[in-house]
Amino acid sequence: MRRNLVTGGAGFIGSHLVEHLLARGESVVALDDLSTGSFRNLEQASSHPGFRFRFGSALDTDLVVREVDCVDRVFHLAAAVGVKRIVESPVLTLQTNIRGTEVLLEAAARRQTPLLLASTSEVYGKGSRVPFSENDDLVYGPTSKARWCYGASKAVDEFLGLAYFRERALPCVVARMFNTVGPRQTGRYGMVLPRFIEQALAGGPLTVYGDGSQTRCFSHVADIIGALDQLCGRASAAGRVFNLGSSEEVSIRELAERVRAAVRPEAAVVSVPYEDVYGEGFEDIERRVPDLRRIRDELGFAPSRNLDAIIAELRQEALQGQGDG
Ligand code: UDP
Repeated sequence: MRRNLVTGGAGFIGSHLVEHLLARGESVVALDDLSTGSFRNLEQASSHPGFRFRFGSALDTDLVVREVDCVDRVFHLAAAVGVKRIVESPVLTLQTNIRGTEVLLEAAARRQTPLLLASTSEVYGKGSRVPFSENDDLVYGPTSKARWCYGASKAVDEFLGLAYFRERALPCVVARMFNTVGPRQTGRYGMVLPRFIEQALAGGPLTVYGDGSQTRCFSHVADIIGALDQLCGRASAAGRVFNLGSSEEVSIRELAERVRAAVRPEAAVVSVPYEDVYGEGFEDIERRVPDLRRIRDELGFAPSRNLDAIIAELRQEALQGQGDG
């Protein structure tokens, strides 16, 4: 039975990965400090004999070394989450993302335990040439704008991961995830799709930031975690960076309209100025679209659900939640 450590295991993506690994007959230790993750996400996993929850931080070196020493693979997903939180707490973002990753890499390098480093499309910064391809230049705004510290800190993580691969022979692979959505994702940290669903169910209004012409591509968490599992420990993927996501591009205005149509057609859609939400001088990413050729070549990766199917599933989940509540 392969043993796995998932940091950030109580988070949205982490908890789905935990369930997936358990269902494949592997054992899992989930490490989480529950800062943004929630034990509720692990309700299903917690009764599984192959599962163990470890409360703690990725910054706790002794704890991390102990846990890493007992597993065959490491998925490092623990990170500061949500653009809004990052703008408000840049110290926490930088510490969690950079120091946490150093601790994990150092621990994994002791025995060359394969490690998957979760990264994000935020590393592309405000690059404007779409689709974003793994070898593109990264373009950030000034350091005086806290917004860029998230992408820059994850880029440092990637540098670290690739350096450990080169210098310390650590089988490390980097997954840059683009707008992953699915059941159990909360709108609390600002993520747009769960927010729109929650807002529509509450009768509206749906809050579109700016003029809503900015675009994103949303992919289902089930597709993403399957790829994470395949990438981690795969010899041909080690030392490389992979985009993971969907290429179905939609504007945020259009997304709001589609959620409204599916959930509550009479709800209003309103525009909210960026500065009301993120403060003065916030810069959004106009278009965010992944180039998926590399992951397609490596794994034959193709998203299994389109956006309408995802919205329908989330609507169903939310209605069920209301019924339960
Ligand atoms: N957004 C929005 N209304 C909301 C929350 C977010 O219009 O209630 C916008 C946000 O400004 C961004 C897009 O939706 O342009 C995606 O935001 P999210 O935070 O989900 O992801 P990211 O910006 O990291 O792609």
